[in-house]
Amino acid sequence: MRKIAVFPGSFDPITVGHLDIVQRAVLLFDEIVIAVGENSSKKYMFSLEERQKHIAKAFENYKSVRQTTYSGLTVDFCKSIGAKYILRGMRSEHDFEFERSIALMNKAMQDELETVFLVSAAKYTAVSSTIVRDILRNGGDASQFVPNGILDE
Ligand code: ADP
Repeated sequence: MRKIAVFPGSFDPITVGHLDIVQRAVLLFDEIVIAVGENSSKKYMFSLEERQKHIAKAFENYKSVRQTTYSGLTVDFCKSIGAKYILRGMRSEHDFEFERSIALMNKAMQDELETVFLVSAAKYTAVSSTIVRDILRNGGDASQFVPNGILDE
């Protein structure tokens, strides 16, 4: 059976940390679906279309990586596409506590779904979309923290 993993997130914007997680996960799964969350109560810096454009550019050469948008529960989305794995990155103990709770709740809702964590590469542990947004808001150059060329336009 094909191993499909969903990598859910806001990707506002996608960073080199996200890129690294997906590049490493490509070796573990047959297909990775980057699932861009659409949450009407969240305020984003980049529109859904912009976030998707960034992701398309970052993964244009990856055959087993595709993206889609979703709203609602991640477990329901996974079920709808036959994915048995949720992929998440782990940067710190702060991530751990948060991610552990979500993984346990997801498991309680759908027992056949496994959350797989990849520990962030040391050089990317400090990289976050939040900090990238702060740099951009203050007119700084965030290009080293995002995949090549995505903020060019
Ligand atoms: P969310 O809004 O769900 O937290 P994000 O887009 O911020 O979405 O993150 C999606 C996933 O990517 C999460 O699992 C997060 O831990 C992981 N992630 C974010 N930044 C990094 C990084 N620098 N290294 C590894 N994983 C990361």
